[in-house]
Amino acid sequence: MLKIGIFALQGDVSEHTKMLHNVGKESGKDIKVAELRNFEIFDCDALIIPGGESTAMRKLTHDEDGNKFLNFLKKISGEGIPVMGICAGLILLAKNVNNKFYDGLLDIDVKRNGYGRQRESFETDIVLNLGKITEKFHAIFIRAPVIEKVNRGEILANFEGKAVAVKDKNVMGITFHPELTNYRKIYKYFLNLI
Ligand code: GLN
Repeated sequence: MLKIGIFALQGDVSEHTKMLHNVGKESGKDIKVAELRNFEIFDCDALIIPGGESTAMRKLTHDEDGNKFLNFLKKISGEGIPVMGICAGLILLAKNVNNKFYDGLLDIDVKRNGYGRQRESFETDIVLNLGKITEKFHAIFIRAPVIEKVNRGEILANFEGKAVAVKDKNVMGITFHPELTNYRKIYKYFLNLI
């Protein structure tokens, strides 16, 4: 049995839950999903931080020293637990957000809502490199951040010369929304990191 935690204080949670259940059915794995609101007790095999609004999420996770959630992420990823952040979730993982520095897990520089007003939300084909799999993927971007620079880690996909999916060991960050598609290989790739 695999138990996957989804950070569920804010943002789109149910789409990931549905996706994980479908992955479980398809691959014959027993996958349980835990929607997490409290990080004191974490007994999952992997964690997904969904899209939503990163400022709201940050506010909801802060404690007095402002680092409760980041310390939690550091602890579990240090134990080898895979963590995947989608869009706002990727922003929470980044070390540099709009030139403000955080103790995040991914050493990337990101700019929030970086595609600007004209292209707030858009869909486009990109090429994904997931280990042995290289294929075209129809990506949905919603008020997505732009990854200006990857200081450490691998790039799994690019769009217009900028990374849109990155991986550093057991930590993944994606600026588009795979949970809004029927494409399950990103989740399988992520679960294989367990
Ligand atoms: N624009 C949002 C932010 O900066 C992210 C949008 C999303 O997660 N789809 O937090």
